[in-house]
Parts: sequence; structure tokens; C-alpha cells
Amino acid sequence: MTTSPATPLPPDTLPTGLLIAGDSAKSASGSTHQHIYPANGRPNATVEMAGATDIDRAVRSAAEAQREWISYTPERRRDLMIDLADAVRADTELLGRLNVHDFAVPILMSPGHAALAEKYIRYYAGHIDKANGSSTPVSDKFDINLIEREPYGVVGVIAPWNGPLVVIGLGVAAALAAGNAVVLKPSEYAPFTPLRFGQLCLDAGMPPGLVNVVPSGPEGGEALVRHPGIGKIHFTGGGHTAHTILAAAAHNLTPVSTELGGKSANLVFADADLDSAAQLAAFQGPLGQSGQSCACGSRILVQNSIYDRFMEKFLAMVNAAPIGDPFDPQILVGPVISQAATDRILHTIDRARTEGMGELVTGGRRLGGELAAGYYLEPTVFTDVDNRSPLAREETFGPVVSIMRFDDEDQAIALANDTTYGLNAFIQTRDLTRAHGVARRLAAGSVWINRNSDLSPQSPYGGYKHSGTGRAGGLEGLHEFQQVKNIRIAMP
Ligand code: NAD
Repeated sequence: MTTSPATPLPPDTLPTGLLIAGDSAKSASGSTHQHIYPANGRPNATVEMAGATDIDRAVRSAAEAQREWISYTPERRRDLMIDLADAVRADTELLGRLNVHDFAVPILMSPGHAALAEKYIRYYAGHIDKANGSSTPVSDKFDINLIEREPYGVVGVIAPWNGPLVVIGLGVAAALAAGNAVVLKPSEYAPFTPLRFGQLCLDAGMPPGLVNVVPSGPEGGEALVRHPGIGKIHFTGGGHTAHTILAAAAHNLTPVSTELGGKSANLVFADADLDSAAQLAAFQGPLGQSGQSCACGSRILVQNSIYDRFMEKFLAMVNAAPIGDPFDPQILVGPVISQAATDRILHTIDRARTEGMGELVTGGRRLGGELAAGYYLEPTVFTDVDNRSPLAREETFGPVVSIMRFDDEDQAIALANDTTYGLNAFIQTRDLTRAHGVARRLAAGSVWINRNSDLSPQSPYGGYKHSGTGRAGGLEGLHEFQQVKNIRIAMP
């Protein structure tokens, strides 16, 4: 390939086949999906969509590969995972470009997703030959009492479109390191990087079928959840889908961990460094991934005494953000994912305006001119938002944020926690004693103080309340993919 890293790939080089048992395959049912590039609304490629027959084949081949995988010594599995991390590193540029094709994340950020996946794979590789169980004395005997961790067998990983490489790091890498095989079901909206990743697993020397990649919509997802050969489902996506999946998983009592959405609060206290607080609120809010991130700080709570100064800086940054072609390395904000998402977000904005949920101070429209064919929306800010309104309560998943005021710490915490979600919270203050005290009182799985939500493999990530069950990352994330066995040996 001689093209520059900041140009689209030729359409015929995008991976489009299902990856099952080490081979690229067409869908047994003939089902396909025309993938639309969000930046220009034009078809990218036609992708094979897995149905029940393909899922069945993928699960069976994964079960066979898992038996081989677990028969390897821990050192061999560790080395193969390290080889995979090396392969991902060597492929960062291509993965970055495919990621742009997937969901139009700007090239400025997109190779970072590949680098993050690599970090998790390398981190979890290191656990493989160090994982240990425990032994605990039992009350009245000298029995040997062992507590061991075993893989589930085949894990189904269901990924959203807004960060397949991130889910590969948090979900697939941990599942493999825990001794499982994986059937990875990417969204039909973001199939390219997962398919490329599947190929890298093969190139790294992993057994064919250890990682099968089967893009599909709800139909393939449901077949995966209901398959009796699946030991565990790891789902990342929206709450509505989680309800459907949990109901389907009940059929076989399949355990499910869920990583869901958020309506995260960003608390800006009067003593914060206002320049960095404004920058963080803008990027973590409407700008980063056009607000299409589970970690979006979509409710910005500002202390009254600095409100005007903060808003001036914040709005200046929001309004200056370069919007446009995601392949342009100067661009910070790309389009949203689809026409349907565009309509939904514009509807949310119109409803908030007409029903008086807050005051629209910037944005609110679809962009025209040379961007008219893509799904571009202006970064949008509402002030004086009523925290009881749908604008403040529902995940918008677009470049829209709500600003609210508070007088003191207690009021800020009450507002922040008054939500059904609990994924992230952000605190901006120079007073670390206060920061720590407030962090303890916030009902959120991750609290980020004076910084953005950059994930790290050492740290467990996940939600309170409707933001999810279970954790991804860290030792906690490894244990999500293992079941516990107790072995007791009688001693004379
Ligand atoms: P979604 O729930 O629509 O889809 C997620 C995945 O589930 C897709 O692969 C989809 O094809 C599949 N799916 C849909 N219906 C299904 C069914 N009935 N059975 C099985 N699978 C089914 O979500 P999305 O629009 O792709 O992603 C956006 C959502 O994901 C947001 O709510 C966002 O906050 C959340 N998210 C959470 C995290 C996290 O780590 N907490 C990370 C990224 C995204």
C-alpha cells in the first residue's frame, strides 16, 4: 500500500467476509449489509452478515480451538498473546485507517484505539503464567482445600460500533488470557477493524477458530446469546439491548456481563484550573467522538461563583473545534454514525428547545455546505438544564451537553447522583482532599479527577446502576471470564 496514512483505503481492500475457523466465509443465509461511510453517506463496502447457521459453526469451531488453547503450557499461551500484541502494534496504522472507515472516528484519535488494544493484550498476556488460585484451611479437618479459576470455554463478545478495538482490548484479550475461545460479534456498523484483528490472531499463530469474527445485526447477536455452546456473554452496548440480551440469556442461564451507557457528570469547582477544566469539559463532552462515547461527560455541573468565566472559555473551545473529514489529521470532530442517529439527535435537540428543558446557547443544527452529504452535527450546548428533564436523564449519544449550576459540594453531589446511570464522573478542583471526599460519594464506577477518561489495562472499568454489571480491565476483568472451582482432598 503506497497511500498516505491520512487517506481512505481502496474499497476493495476492506475486509468483508465472516472469519470462522480461520477462513473467510460468506454468510450461509446470503445476508449482507451495505456499510455506509458516515462522512459522506456513500457505501463503503458490502459486508457478510452472520445468521444462526454461521454462529453455530463459529461456536463449534471455537469450542474445538479452546480445547487446543488450554492444552498449551501457560508460557506458550503467554508468548502467543505477546506475538498478537506485536502484530497489533505493527498493524497500528492500518487498524487506525480501518477504524476511520468503521465509524468515522478522526484519524487524529483512531490509531490510539489500536494502541490501547495492544496495551490490554500485552497486559493480559502477562497474567497468563502468573495467574494463581488459593488454598484455605477448613474448620475441623486437615483437608487440602483448593480454590481454582477455570475458563468458561467459549465466550461470546458482543461489541458496539463506537469502539470495537477498545472492546477487543477490554473483552477479547481478557477472555483469551483466562483460557477461553471467543466468538466476537461486531456491530454491522463497525465490522472492519474486528475482521482485521481476527486475521492478526491467525497471523500471530493462534489456533484457527480461537477468535472467530462474525459481524451481524440483532439476529446474529440473538443466535449467539441463545447458543447452548456459549459459556458466557460479554456485552457492550445500550441498555435497551442489554434488557433483550439478558432475557434471551435466561433461556440457558448463560451468565452475562454488561458494559452500558452513561449520563456522566463533570463537576467543575470554583478552585479548578479553568483553562484545563474548560478544555477537558469540551473534549470529554460534545467534541470527543462527537459525544458518541460511553464516557461522555454530558452533564457539566459548574459552581456558580465561576460560572461566567468558565462558560466563556468552554464555549470558545467548543466553537473553535475543527469539524470535517475524519481522514484530515487536523480534524477533531467527525460526523455521527448514521442518518438515523442524525434524526434522533436533532429530534432530542428540537424537543429540548420546544419543551423548555434548557437554553440552547450554541449549535443545534446539521452542517451543510461541503459537509452536507455526511452526518455532521454542530457541537451543541444547553445551559440551565433541568436535571429532571429527558435532556439530562437520557443518553443522547451525540455532540450535545447540558450545563447546570451548583452552589456547594452537597448540591453538586446530589445532582450528579440523581440519574439512573453510573458509569463515569469527573471532578475539576485543585483541592485534593475535597476531590477524594467527593469521589467517594459519587455513585459511578470510575471517577476521573482533573483528567480525561483514558483507559488503562491495570484499572477495572464498568458501571454502577444502569451502566452495567461486571468490570472490564485489571484483575477484576480477567476474573469476569473465569468460573471458580473448589477442590477438597481428604487427608488421613
Ligand atoms: P447497541 O446496543 O445498539 O448494539 C450493541 C451490539 O449489540 C451491536 O453489536 C448490535 O448488533 C448488538 N445487538 C443489537 N440487538 C441485539 C440483540 N437483540 N441480541 C444480541 N445482540 C444485539 O449499541 P450501539 O449503538 O452499538 O453502541 C452504543 C451504546 O454502547 C451506547 O449506549 C454506549 O454508551 C454503549 N457503550 C458502552 C461502553 C462501556 O464500556 N460501558 C463502551 C462503548 C459503548
